Amino acid sequence: MPGFELFGAEERKELNDVLENGVLMRYGFDGMRNGHWKAKELEQELQKRFDVKHAQLTSSGTTALNVALAVMGIGAGDEVIMPCFTFVASFESILASGATPVLVEIDDTLTLDPEAVEAAITSKTKAVMPVHMCGSMAELDALQSICKKHDLFLLEDACQAFGGSYKGKMLGTIGDAGTFSFDFVKTITCGEGGVVLTNNSEYARLADQYSDHGHDHMGSDRGAETHPYLGYNFRISELHAAVGLGQIKKMDDFISIQRRNHAILKEALSAIPEVTFRRIPDPEGDSCGFLNFFMPTAELSNKVVEAFAKFGIDAYWNYYNNNWHYIRKWDHFKEMKSLFPLSDQIKKGMERLKDQSFPQSDDFISRNISCLIKLSWTEEEVKERATKMAAAIHSIL
Ligand SMILES: *Cc1c(COP(=O)(O)O)cnc(C)c1O
Repeated sequence: MPGFELFGAEERKELNDVLENGVLMRYGFDGMRNGHWKAKELEQELQKRFDVKHAQLTSSGTTALNVALAVMGIGAGDEVIMPCFTFVASFESILASGATPVLVEIDDTLTLDPEAVEAAITSKTKAVMPVHMCGSMAELDALQSICKKHDLFLLEDACQAFGGSYKGKMLGTIGDAGTFSFDFVKTITCGEGGVVLTNNSEYARLADQYSDHGHDHMGSDRGAETHPYLGYNFRISELHAAVGLGQIKKMDDFISIQRRNHAILKEALSAIPEVTFRRIPDPEGDSCGFLNFFMPTAELSNKVVEAFAKFGIDAYWNYYNNNWHYIRKWDHFKEMKSLFPLSDQIKKGMERLKDQSFPQSDDFISRNISCLIKLSWTEEEVKERATKMAAAIHSIL
């Protein structure tokens, strides 16, 4: 997955363009730019490649979520339903908007369980935020019809499934808005960066303003621009956008390398009857950034982890004991350890987490092993790795 494995002449050329004209800001300085608008160009590439009307770059995937929530008008008093298996950015962005995160179970897709979502809806629910974890997608048809029925926004966090699709449409373009991260370990990296994708022109206009202090962006004189709304600085820099522009031109190659490497590993593990795989709602649309498999019991998955270490296999996780991705280790969140006072609405809403348990998610996550698919592996290296992984699993059965 990490795009940084394949930096080359493309990224260096784009970066040099920016360094040569000295304009590191994405707006203004028209006369000094020599025609280089890297952030704008990257947005246009994203629109074309994702077949989506609008792309608004931001400073990170987390701020992309902040912007998306803001343009949908989600804030104090509102609830947003999210999965208990995700990256911490999900609840961070909801809390930053002033809304209350409502956590629900995942299923064997390792993403939102639609039944759990429906059961968590209250009169305060405003949005459902599926997270397409570890390369593959949530049950988008089911989630979309729940959102339609209850008049809720669907916001796709597609940060870990860049290049994946669902029934012919790119992930991140199916909900009212979708987000990607271009941080240092994502499939396409800018160093730091993110994007909001949407087909809604009003959201796009607001996202453009909100992510730049509320500037109206009418005309080229920044000093003369007005501020129709409050905003923040969630801008990407030209330097970061330039790296992303070099990377995105290689997107099709990245995805096909991932799919090749994924297929080789999956075939080797498929021969082991005890190994089952995560359910993928549209297998053709798997971005293949990870291979996720289940062992029959948590005990066996722990043994696989030990065996992988013994056999010298790297780049895999059991998220049950991971500090960043699963509710079990989010004590700072559960205890609401905020540097500043949180609203009474949030505190009250979060009370429910104190006695909430996630038995279904515990079962799937404790039995799951998630293997990163690297871009730099040669076909021979993947084949060797596949043989070693199968041998390691056999050794504990
Ligand atoms: C990486 C990631 C984010 C946040 O992206 P940053 O650019 O690091 O802020 C959000 N959600 C998921 C699922 C991610 O993996």
